[in-house]
Amino acid sequence: LILVFIMKDNGIELEVDGCVHCGHTSVTSFSLVDGGFVCHKHQTPQDVQMSIEALKAIRHIYKTPMAHIDTLSIDESVLKEILFIFEYYIDEYCGIYLNALRFVKEWI
Ligand SMILES: [Zn+2]
Repeated sequence: LILVFIMKDNGIELEVDGCVHCGHTSVTSFSLVDGGFVCHKHQTPQDVQMSIEALKAIRHIYKTPMAHIDTLSIDESVLKEILFIFEYYIDEYCGIYLNALRFVKEWI
């Protein structure tokens, strides 16, 4: 959630309501290039195929306001599956190195 907050603060928005191309809500993977969910029809080999739990968790984390951080409950294995997505955007677009990131990784 901290990473998502930093992303939004830096103007990085993700499409987590449906397919980034057609808006279809039945999604199967995540496109780092296009910044959001992708449906079966628009999926390319570059997209990251994920479990439905992981996709739901991404949306959940993304939509939860910072003030409701205590309401977040995500399985540890799912968190490990999705953390790299937020790391990717922080690394690629925010241009900041986070000491906190190391802490977050050690914590999960
Ligand atoms: Zn689509």
